[in-house]
Amino acid sequence: MKIICVGRNYAKHIEELQNERPVEPVVFLKPDTSILPKNMPFFIPDFSNDIHHEVEILVRINRVGKYIESRFAHKYYEEIGLGIDFTARDVQAQLKEKGLPWEKAKAFDGSAVIGNFVNKNDFSSLNSINFELTNNGNSVQKGNTAEMLWKIDDIIAYVSQYFTLKIGDIIFTGTPEGVAKVNTNDVLEGFIEGKQMFKINVK
Ligand code: ZN
Repeated sequence: MKIICVGRNYAKHIEELQNERPVEPVVFLKPDTSILPKNMPFFIPDFSNDIHHEVEILVRINRVGKYIESRFAHKYYEEIGLGIDFTARDVQAQLKEKGLPWEKAKAFDGSAVIGNFVNKNDFSSLNSINFELTNNGNSVQKGNTAEMLWKIDDIIAYVSQYFTLKIGDIIFTGTPEGVAKVNTNDVLEGFIEGKQMFKINVK
């Protein structure tokens, strides 16, 4: 399986990192080795002093597809989840400066938290889902899928032009504002509409 991530999909997060607003989605991949095993803590890697949390709505693909049209994209997933795209912001800043690929900052071991999934039919609309990340019980990131620049079906249409989607592939749909550094002993909990989807200890 593969993990396809969209960057810069929420306007206020683009502003907080002082990035340009993209005319097309920013896309990058994480390998399967980036998945943090269930119930394991996240260990801050030695190569970074500035690991950020990015809480994101996830989509799990359940049909093979390529060149999927946006209006048919809903047929390619049943479940929505929540996860974290851990990012070594200091490493990413160096790579960005040189125009180099982001993998060292985004695709390292443990950088993909994949929490629980829920059936998409549990929501009246996929374009108004509230989600939240807390750190040690304090709210640090809050988002609503209404704020996405590219909606889930648009993302599927866009990325499937380049990558054949396969059963089990996961799409990270971008993070809202509030990204921040994680520290040892932090406890990160993610919620969709108030329901807990993951709990991660940082070591
Ligand atoms: Zn992200």
